[in-house]
Amino acid sequence: MSAPRFDHAKDRAGELSLVQSAPELAPDERGATLATLVRRELELIGEDPMREGLLRTPERVAKSLAWLTRGYEQDVADVVGSAVFEEAHSQMVLVRDIDFYSLCEHHMLPFFGKVHIAYVPDGRIVGLSKLPRVVEVFARRLQVQERLTEQIAEGIESVLRPAGVGVVVEAEHLCMMMRGVEKQHSTTITSALRGCFRDAPATRDEFLRLVHGRR
Ligand code: ZN
Repeated sequence: MSAPRFDHAKDRAGELSLVQSAPELAPDERGATLATLVRRELELIGEDPMREGLLRTPERVAKSLAWLTRGYEQDVADVVGSAVFEEAHSQMVLVRDIDFYSLCEHHMLPFFGKVHIAYVPDGRIVGLSKLPRVVEVFARRLQVQERLTEQIAEGIESVLRPAGVGVVVEAEHLCMMMRGVEKQHSTTITSALRGCFRDAPATRDEFLRLVHGRR
């Protein structure tokens, strides 16, 4: 459990010692420590953590943050489980408009939108209900949209070994919208194309037309 939790933190030098010691803590200790930090945050922004409306806020925030980042505890192989089936079908499979909610790693504010996933099977298909769960594994972490997109593609590639996979993510970022630093209603679109989605123009075009050409 503790190994995958902070996997991606390893390649960053000088991580806080708090991060390194966190996996040693039991979940309820982690929650209590977080709540203490949130109480301190409230003081630092000039609030009174003892006033009635805020009394249980630190515990709620700690719980909600644990839930919103539960993807650290999950991996693709686990959520897909045994839902990979032998199948000769070799045409594109596309699931469009998968809702997701994530937190940007720069501000810890939500970004959210839709994910579109397509793959061309190579002897195996995956239960369609599993694709939204693959999205959840990576969305429920601190993210940047570009990495989220790549990780979804990589996750599907790893369990399915398809002829190709394409992922498009369309999202709005509250850190841009709420802070008013950029265009308020802009949508950010990212894509990850692998295998025949990268190498075969006809496949790529079909995918992008199906994803973008609908409105
Ligand atoms: Zn941000």
